Amino acid sequence: MIAGTCSQSQTTRNVIHGTTSTNQTLPSPNDLAFELTGRDYISYSAISSYQSCPLRYQFSYCTDMVREFVSSNLIFGSAIHVAIEHHFRSVFEGEASPSLDSLMAAYEQAWRRDTDTPVKFGKTESKETLRDLASRMLTAFQASEVSKMDSQLLAIEEEFRGPIIDGCPDVLGRLDLVDLHENAVRITDFKTSRSRRNEVKIVESAPQQLLYADLVAPLAKALGNLPVRIEWIVIAKAKKPIVERHALTPHAGQIARTKAGIRQVWRAISSGHFYPTPSSMGCAGCGFSAACRQWEG
Ligand code: SF4
Repeated sequence: MIAGTCSQSQTTRNVIHGTTSTNQTLPSPNDLAFELTGRDYISYSAISSYQSCPLRYQFSYCTDMVREFVSSNLIFGSAIHVAIEHHFRSVFEGEASPSLDSLMAAYEQAWRRDTDTPVKFGKTESKETLRDLASRMLTAFQASEVSKMDSQLLAIEEEFRGPIIDGCPDVLGRLDLVDLHENAVRITDFKTSRSRRNEVKIVESAPQQLLYADLVAPLAKALGNLPVRIEWIVIAKAKKPIVERHALTPHAGQIARTKAGIRQVWRAISSGHFYPTPSSMGCAGCGFSAACRQWEG
């Protein structure tokens, strides 16, 4: 057990070890989540972090351990995200499309905000090369059709939360863009990608959006039982960046399957199943490698 992790009450320990007596009140999933992580909800990124490495999840979400470094990929993606959000916020507020300088200022500000921890760059990268790439990507974005919106904004970078999975804490999602488009509620996720997204990649990204579709279902219902559509705006980090919009029509059972998977992950988390799953890809970008080497169960 790692010092300072996942402090649990006796009741919680009893739940985990199956020793709860009949007159003990079981904590609700939200209370259990709060005891384990300090948050009374789960997010898709937490679930996905557990799926990629349970020990890394524990370090990130159940301890106050500071990362040795943050991957440049993470900061870059989040800074581009902030710039795109700035674009859409301005457009929907009725202002002219922001200039490239204005988007780059949003990018720079987000980059500064996220770099308290040392940044680990790829072999051929630096802050300057990434800044050039950001400028090319945002220029391509501005020139593309996806930057123009002819719909009604419902929410931008807004949190939606709900008890949408039986036996699990509330799910909380921060949705990039929700608009009313062609008589449907459309949720759009902004993404950067190493290369053009193919269908396989889109299907890989689907679980988060499927959950988010469930979170906005009450809103779609209140607006007249409208369908919910899932889309992505993806900017590929190519020499000549490519901007594309992708859509997915969920087939029957996809949401149920996603929820069933999350229910199993939550069971594992709430039972304290944390262990390393080393892989060259996963560990290269992990900021907890020293703590991981010391881990003995
Ligand atoms: S170094 Fe690898 S195995 Fe260890 S916590 Fe990080 S991702 Fe998991």
